[in-house]
Amino acid sequence: MGLFTTKELNSMEDLLCDQLGDLYDAEQRLTKALPKMAKAASDSKLKAGFEQHLKETEGQVRRLEEAFKLLGKDAKAVTCNAIKGLISEGEEVINASGDPDIKDAALIAAAQRVEHYEIAGYGCARNFALRNGSKSVAALLQETLDEEKATDQKLTEMAESSINPKASH
Ligand code: FE
Ligand code: FE
Ligand code: FE
Repeated sequence: MGLFTTKELNSMEDLLCDQLGDLYDAEQRLTKALPKMAKAASDSKLKAGFEQHLKETEGQVRRLEEAFKLLGKDAKAVTCNAIKGLISEGEEVINASGDPDIKDAALIAAAQRVEHYEIAGYGCARNFALRNGSKSVAALLQETLDEEKATDQKLTEMAESSINPKASH
């Protein structure tokens, strides 16, 4: 970490904006990663699931822009090294050779790691927004949190009902 990346966190609002920036960076990276995940998926429902979450993710980027606006701030991305790492793990799966059904199971494992990271991030940011008295920002973050949780659940259901059974044949 160099001089230019040193954070200054003095208030709940500073913290909230920093967290929003991290999520803003993460979601933007995910709008580029999700089409690759969809393309790499063999199962048509899994492919459709990634495509649907791409659309939701585009909406999540807009929600974060709205949240910054409500706080009277310019939307500013703060590099999210964790999502960079998780996306790079996803790329390892995308580029892997081998059985397509096993690859689908591996794609879900990579995707769920991302959803869990997002769930943690949005849960914390929502709580910081409430502490900061920014109820409308908290409501926006809650909407995205609900989408991330639903996506995670959908991935679990797909894995257990069809993808993992297919992969173990
Ligand atoms: Fe997201
Ligand atoms: Fe991060
Ligand atoms: Fe997500």
